[in-house]
Amino acid sequence: MEKDAKIYVAGHRGMVGSAIVRKLQSEGFENLLFRTSSELDLRNQAAVEDFFATEKPDYVILAAAKVGGIVANNTYRADFLYDNLLIEANIIHQAYKTDVKKLLFLGSSCIYPKLAPQPLKEEYLLSGFLEQTNEPYAIAKITGIKLCESYRRQYGCNFISAMPTNLYGPNDNYDLQNSHVLPALIRKFHEAKVNDQPFVEVWGTGSPRREFLHADDLADACFFLMENYDEELFVNIGTGEDETIRELVEQVQQVVGYEGEVRWNTDKPDGTPRKLMDVSRLHAMGWKHTTSLKDGLELTYQDFLANEELYVE
Ligand code: GDP
Repeated sequence: MEKDAKIYVAGHRGMVGSAIVRKLQSEGFENLLFRTSSELDLRNQAAVEDFFATEKPDYVILAAAKVGGIVANNTYRADFLYDNLLIEANIIHQAYKTDVKKLLFLGSSCIYPKLAPQPLKEEYLLSGFLEQTNEPYAIAKITGIKLCESYRRQYGCNFISAMPTNLYGPNDNYDLQNSHVLPALIRKFHEAKVNDQPFVEVWGTGSPRREFLHADDLADACFFLMENYDEELFVNIGTGEDETIRELVEQVQQVVGYEGEVRWNTDKPDGTPRKLMDVSRLHAMGWKHTTSLKDGLELTYQDFLANEELYVE
């Protein structure tokens, strides 16, 4: 990308979008374009059309989405499907209409079949049934991949897709009902420590395995793909390493310094048993993450402490 290129980062206030903005700024890109959701409702076709026609971005990074943890996905099923479909369809179509040079669409590891072999290779897409708790979100994200693929095949657009594993970092969602496990644990253990609570309740059995990537590493990988990758097949982005939720709980407990008891509420769902990304394609291109989970947890707890008032309403 040229240093003066106009780059539209959709979703710039979220964890992923804000990390991408930090990365682009650190690389010397200054002509960045943003809109908050109150300024531009990405579900509104006419508003998105108007925005693209007026601003004519050179490049687009699509990090805007309605996202959430296992309970949010399972509760707001219609919203997760409807909002995400409209956001993707509007942006991708307008990127085609206004001759955007390249677009990067961000998906999620939940696009893979629930019982796909592990680690998850890109070619396992659509080879089996999805996990029920987040099927609507996954269908929306699969549609985003297929939109990029189809606009490339029919119209020759350079639209690529990347599928990040579970992410964490600054500007994460710390809502106890709707967040993902890692931020939820940081908040729960922190509040239990501060309030001297005798126990903390965590969900499920602790046996599912998850992989975690720091948002700054994801942003670095996205930049790498914008600079180096122009092919149809989407690319997994992860660390290639996973651990059990029980292990994660122990690590977060240690980083926060909470010494009370942990109770497992098995009435809450476990979700998919494992979703480890196969990152061999990305590694073969020459990219690898740099933040270990241990360092990332320390950084994230420090960021939580510095921004607690912002994160916890
Ligand atoms: P998933 O990766 O889509 O399944 O979503 P989550 O990040 O929400 O959950 C991952 C796993 O962590 C599931 O097995 C949850 O049951 C488990 N978990 C344990 N404690 C918590 C918690 O406090 N919040 C959330 N969201 N998940 C938890």
